[in-house]
Formats: sequence, C-alpha cells, structure tokens
Amino acid sequence: MTDATVLQPSAMLRRAGLRVTQPRLAVLDALARHPHAATDVLIAAARETRSVSHQAVYDVLHTLSDLGLVRRIQPAGSVARYELRVGDNHHHVVCRSCGDVVDIDCATGSAPCLDPSELDVHAPGFVLHEAEVTYWGLCATCAGSAEPQPDLTAPSRTASSRTTEKRKNRV
Ligand SMILES: [Zn+2]
Ligand SMILES: [Zn+2]
Repeated sequence: MTDATVLQPSAMLRRAGLRVTQPRLAVLDALARHPHAATDVLIAAARETRSVSHQAVYDVLHTLSDLGLVRRIQPAGSVARYELRVGDNHHHVVCRSCGDVVDIDCATGSAPCLDPSELDVHAPGFVLHEAEVTYWGLCATCAGSAEPQPDLTAPSRTASSRTTEKRKNRV
C-alpha cells in the first residue's frame, strides 16, 4: 500500500495539487467505505454525506483516476469499479456468480509480477510495465449455494473439484 491510502482525504488532494472540494471529499469518503464499488454505488454513498450531483461524482472519479489517486478496474463482464488502493500492483479475485471483488496481494510485490515466456520472440522490443491478474471463481457464499447460477459461464463443477482460474493480460 502507498501513503495515499493512509493520508487524510484533504491531504491526499493537496499533495496531488488539487483543491479540496466537497465533491472530491465525498467521493474519497465513499471509496473508503466501498472499495471496488461501481459508479452508481459511489454516487449513492457520496450523496449520503454531501450534496453532490451525479455528474460531479463522474467528474471526480475521472480526475482522480487520471491522476492515479484512484484505481479503476473493470473485470470482464463488469462495469468499471474504483478503489483507493493504488500503486501496489495488487490483484483481484472475482466471483463469477455475484461479482464480488476481493484484493489479493501481489505474490512478488512489484510489477510486472509475471514473466511472460519468450516475450522477445512474440513481441520483440516490447517494454513490459505490469501484469494485470484476475483470479476467477466462486465466493464461499456462491460456491455453497445449491441453485445453479444464471451467469456462470464456466463448465459446471462441484465444490470439491472447484478450482480458481487464472487469467492474465499483458498491459
Ligand atoms: Zn459470489
Ligand atoms: Zn483492489
């Protein structure tokens, strides 16, 4: 984790050279309470504490993501989600059924944490920055559910043979 996650929101904004505004404070507060939340959840959460417009929340998320104060992730099949935990190259486990997202520390701690095989053969001269890893599977709640899940795209599997798939994309 970086210092940014332990700084007060107003200090975080000032350090990034941004003015401290009510919409920015509202969004940072919402993100602290709802890591990996989608925009609509963050709008509702921000409006619980301050009077901010939908558009202001969109604008703030855009600005903070661009400046690297907020990380934007978008697992396949999901809307964009946002979090305050930035700069540590952590990864995510995503439940295929309910879409729940949980942080997983990077195994090596720094990017890129995976060495692609024969990078020089497949992409000569390519300068690698990071590996974005998403582990797909079922959360404990969904894995224990007797009902088949409607949007489960993987082949059917039992709890005992359930494995977590690993998907990696070069960025
Ligand atoms: Zn689930
Ligand atoms: Zn995360």
